[in-house]
Amino acid sequence: MGDRRRFLQASLLAAGAAALPTIAAKPTSTGARVVSTWDFGVGANRAAWKVLDGGGSALDAVEAGARWAEADLCNPTVGRCGNPDRDGVLTLDASIMDGDGRCGAVAALEDVAHPVSVARAVMEKTPHVMLVGEGAQQFALSQGFAKTPLLTDEARRAWREWLRTSEYQPQINAERQSRPGDKSNHDTLGILALDAQGRLAGACTTSGMAWKMHGRVGDSPIVGAGLYVDNEVGAATASGVGEEMVRNAASFLVVELMRQGRSPTQACREAIERVVRKRPEASKRLQVCFLAMNRAGEVGAFALHKGFVYALQDGGTGPHDRLHEAASVYATEQT
Ligand code: ASP
Repeated sequence: MGDRRRFLQASLLAAGAAALPTIAAKPTSTGARVVSTWDFGVGANRAAWKVLDGGGSALDAVEAGARWAEADLCNPTVGRCGNPDRDGVLTLDASIMDGDGRCGAVAALEDVAHPVSVARAVMEKTPHVMLVGEGAQQFALSQGFAKTPLLTDEARRAWREWLRTSEYQPQINAERQSRPGDKSNHDTLGILALDAQGRLAGACTTSGMAWKMHGRVGDSPIVGAGLYVDNEVGAATASGVGEEMVRNAASFLVVELMRQGRSPTQACREAIERVVRKRPEASKRLQVCFLAMNRAGEVGAFALHKGFVYALQDGGTGPHDRLHEAASVYATEQT
């Protein structure tokens, strides 16, 4: 893979801010819109849009979108079809945040199908922000969530196959296919919504890095790393190798850069540049992607490596209903 990677560092410095594509808010009847990471964001957006289009809240919309992704039977990186850790255990991470600062999260949750809804219950029904592992599962069961063995036969097969080498090697944008045969070993559904009342919310849900150490927690359930939302400014979410987001408090950083006046794309780009500056060599071998929306509904994204796509839905027609590819620091070809 290394041989085929081309490093376009110059693009970092050369790309002027004016050249960066921020998708301007396009007036719809309500101004509502939703954006989600990756190609599976299209389905998540559809579920979220039903809520927004019916006058529902951004919070309900992002939960509906995340639930859709968690139930998707073709996705080896999110929810019930996720790949397990190196011990063969599927553990799920999720968070949800409202623009008023309320938030909830679960990490390393086992055998509960909708971690995003458990995260919302943590937010609404406990004095806490995050529950992990056994405690998160106990809480979920106490709230009426069912305990269901989630590891699919396909995921178990993929794990057995992985055991042959037992090599932990995060991929950069593995070519996604419907199961069987999807080789993606990490990705996250990050979803941000603005509702007709001008409220923002976001959610993040993932099975994390395939073949991770048992007990490893990524950025997605960590508020400020994988997700941050502030009605005063905007919202940001992330996908990619979560350790980088945690190191940089990345989603919080993106929102704070927007607070200082950056467009969503500029903010995402500066946060990506921070990742490169901190770990220039490592950043060539791993993917990090940011997606942001400001309170005016403008959307932007930026990634370390080429290939990060996100979906936008605002009820309009044309490009606003399609997948968009984010600009990136490196142009990396698929393996
Ligand atoms: N951010 C996720 C994690 O580190 C994985 C991903 O989005 O690719 O768990």
